[in-house]
Amino acid sequence: MTVSNPLSYLSEQLHAWREAGTFQRLRELQSPCEPVSVFDGREVINLASNNYLGLANHPKLVEAAVNAAKKFGVGSGAVRTISGTMSVHLELEERIAAFKNVEACVVFQSGFAANAGTVAAILTPEDHIISDALNHASIIDGCRLSRAKIHVFPHKDAARAGEILAELRSVPGRKLLITDGVFSMDGDIGPLNELVPLAERYGAVMMIDDAHSSGVLGRNGRGTVDHFGLHGRVDIQVGTLSKAVGVLGGYVCGSRDLIEFLCHRARPFLFSTSHPPAVAAACLAAFDILEQEPERIERLWENTRYFKGELAKLGFNTGESETPITPVMVGQAATAHRFSRELFDEGLYATGIGFPTVLEGKARIRTIVTATHTREMLDRALDILQRVAKRMDI
Ligand SMILES: *Cc1c(COP(=O)(O)O)cnc(C)c1O
Repeated sequence: MTVSNPLSYLSEQLHAWREAGTFQRLRELQSPCEPVSVFDGREVINLASNNYLGLANHPKLVEAAVNAAKKFGVGSGAVRTISGTMSVHLELEERIAAFKNVEACVVFQSGFAANAGTVAAILTPEDHIISDALNHASIIDGCRLSRAKIHVFPHKDAARAGEILAELRSVPGRKLLITDGVFSMDGDIGPLNELVPLAERYGAVMMIDDAHSSGVLGRNGRGTVDHFGLHGRVDIQVGTLSKAVGVLGGYVCGSRDLIEFLCHRARPFLFSTSHPPAVAAACLAAFDILEQEPERIERLWENTRYFKGELAKLGFNTGESETPITPVMVGQAATAHRFSRELFDEGLYATGIGFPTVLEGKARIRTIVTATHTREMLDRALDILQRVAKRMDI
């Protein structure tokens, strides 16, 4: 008897991706995450990380993590609601709440868990979600898990969001208006100054995902609510500890009752083990740096302005970006992946991104400069981009 492989369809799909040039082998990082890192045995300028402020390998964070591990061990031993709430977890939550100027905060294992866990917990199938077309996958998954009705508005189209809210005015159920603060693939900023008044007018809950704005936008990196001066007017702010903060985790900020509710109902909080103490301690050290060294954020933005300006001079299409996330649009996914590979061979790592992360035909390489790239590194990166693009006729 021949035994058939019930998973053979996966192998067929992988084969098709290889044929199409969209199969992605994982690159192996063999050094700490730095502006120049070693991947696959090669030293390259790293424009592929979210390590905006250079904190991922900062000595103060490393020291805090080591000390916490020595004092409290490497694991918390349980989920938060059983016995896995350590002093350092509570200290971090209080620190973030004070930093963000809100009543309370809860930390999740990741930004993904924070988004998906929160949206799924606060809504029921009778409710409605009004969501930007380019919102992050973790928001989309949270929306699906909630089983609420999902109304997608075209990217950044606040007028359309307003129409949907007006249409739903007499429809029963709660309304949640939700957007990324900074969009992760295009680097543009959500129109909070238009969306927040709409949520207020229609009595909708306003929720913002500040994953790419935490540590990047607003005073000391307080995020888009601070950037737009909307303190007290956004019900739910999500942030990440995995990007500019340099470590791992996600958090939700809002009223004390929102946070206590999430501690009773958000499934990642209830059913998945809390961070190792080293993670929470390193995050605390990162908030010290955010508050004490605002010049890091200034350098990040200086580098961003310089790099974008030079890319434009070279004639690259960088889409709608307004932040350190700068896409270089190329069109087809296979071209983006080949562009990325050829840049790598010349000493520059910038990720190729295609469907399903972005729409078909909108493939790009994505670059993210950090505060710790020197002008010389950026000039070298620009030179490589120019040479490879010319060779490939991009
Ligand atoms: C990266 C990202 C997340 C997830 O954050 P993690 O902490 O990496 O899980 C959520 N939302 C957006 C917009 C992101 O870019």
